[in-house]
Amino acid sequence: MLRKGIAAAPGIVIGRAVVKAEETLHYDRHTLDPDQVGAELDRFRASVKAADHDLEQIKEKTRREIGEGEARIFEAHQLFLQDPEFVGSIEAKIESERVNAEAAVQEVRDSFVAIFESMDDEYMRERAADLRDVSQRLLKKLLGVHDELQADFAEPVVLVVHDLTPSDTAQLDRDKVKGFITNIGGRTSHSAIMARTMEIPAVVGMSDITERLQTGDLVIVDGLQGEVHIRPDQALVETYEEKRLAYEKQKADWARLVHEESVTADGHRVELAANIGNPQDAVQALENGAEGIGLFRTEFLYMGRDSFPSEEEQFAAYKAVAETMGQDRPVVIRTLDIGGDKELPYLDLPKELNPFLGYRAIRLCLDRVDLFKTQLRALLRASAYGNVKIMYPMIATLAELRRANQILNEVKAELRSQNIAFNEELEVGIMIEIPAAALVADQLAKEADFFSIGTNDLIQYVMAADRMNEQVSYLYDPYNPAILRLIHQVIKAAHQEGKWVGMCGEMAGEELAIPILLGFGLDEFSMSATSILRARHLLKKLDYQSLQQISQHVLSLESGEEIKAYIQESVLNKL
Ligand code: PEP
Ligand code: MG
Repeated sequence: MLRKGIAAAPGIVIGRAVVKAEETLHYDRHTLDPDQVGAELDRFRASVKAADHDLEQIKEKTRREIGEGEARIFEAHQLFLQDPEFVGSIEAKIESERVNAEAAVQEVRDSFVAIFESMDDEYMRERAADLRDVSQRLLKKLLGVHDELQADFAEPVVLVVHDLTPSDTAQLDRDKVKGFITNIGGRTSHSAIMARTMEIPAVVGMSDITERLQTGDLVIVDGLQGEVHIRPDQALVETYEEKRLAYEKQKADWARLVHEESVTADGHRVELAANIGNPQDAVQALENGAEGIGLFRTEFLYMGRDSFPSEEEQFAAYKAVAETMGQDRPVVIRTLDIGGDKELPYLDLPKELNPFLGYRAIRLCLDRVDLFKTQLRALLRASAYGNVKIMYPMIATLAELRRANQILNEVKAELRSQNIAFNEELEVGIMIEIPAAALVADQLAKEADFFSIGTNDLIQYVMAADRMNEQVSYLYDPYNPAILRLIHQVIKAAHQEGKWVGMCGEMAGEELAIPILLGFGLDEFSMSATSILRARHLLKKLDYQSLQQISQHVLSLESGEEIKAYIQESVLNKL
């Protein structure tokens, strides 16, 4: 039986299922005598300490065995345990309501989770999963329940669970757990991200898979297509065994490309860069053969805390990325892109009817010059330590670019007068993600040093189709002729002024898009780190000269379907 889910981590595995039902912890809510409150607070504080101790160990193990970026997940969990808002609310509940610690943890967790989950932003929704994970750990400590998925599997298995927390994922024994399937979760949930790093094939978001499978069932997990075959017959197992071997061989071929240049078969060179959200991601980017950072989303430095990061904190983060990447690899750091769906609890913005069309990103920065200047100072100072470039998000008009540059110049003057070093030659570019900017790209290209096309937003603004709205998702299509024509026009406009153009929207890493974008002359492709080697492998087989004509022909086609079919047939099928 075939079931479809979300492809969370690539690879194919055929194995026996081990089904773990959702773990429920049993406890009552009860009222304490006034003289028991002190002891209950002590018991709670001891559980916090014990949970923190465990997390410290898991963090170190993860750092050693998986990577720095993944270890940070547990650092975030530890921060919850130090968060006065979270811990304080639990203590206040124990004191004011005289309830037992278990009930207080659960009730405070539920109210925080409800707030996180009501946010439109996927990042914040993922924080709800982290908070659940930490709270579960606290509850187990309080109840004296011993840990988790330390399962003693006798043979390699496919784990089938309702949800896999990051802690569970980090503790999986990679020799035993060959794949996993979950009822819930999305492509960007932490467990999915960790599965990709650990290279454990995974399919998530399968709603009721724990009901459909039983321990001991044979199962095929296809993490490439997001498919699961339940109790397959021998013929299907053989087919998948071949697919698995082919994929393993492919991966080995890709791994050999880590230190190679990104050139087409006929010698045309481009840059394959990574999108990152924190300094640790840069390490993983390098391991995956990134030739630069095409987008550092700095808003993540501002999230999950209760005040703005200081200039020093920001400087340390930007400098760390610049130093990790070294003098030769460019690091494009985007100034704060907050607002819209990304909220900051400590920045009290009025509710808007259309947040995506509202007070966000550069609009907010040009208004809150204090915030903007702090970030620019940190960025400029970091530019003395590597190949840093600054990029403004959501530019709609030439006037905005000029105003942003004027503020940047003021900050530069300040630094000069204080004898603080920065790179005088630093490039300053803009994101092209608003149709108005794309249409006046020829004018913007005279004053920006580079462009990076943000298709994630550009598509939704061009098509007037909210990217979160399933009902209009047929319009949210990177291959729509309107989108491709606009991208082509932007690249041409930049090149006419001798400027380089990148793309940092998800489209840049797509197999069908790469040949078209290459034909249009895109100079830099920035994508998630784990897509880079695959893109390089494809690139090496492509012929830049013939893609010129192919991409011109694309511009004459009438629909996304037609364009995709044409690229599949005239390019990919011939490789
Ligand atoms: C984009 O809009 O394409 C982009 C890369 O920015 P973000 O996804 O952060 O909005
Ligand atoms: Mg954007």
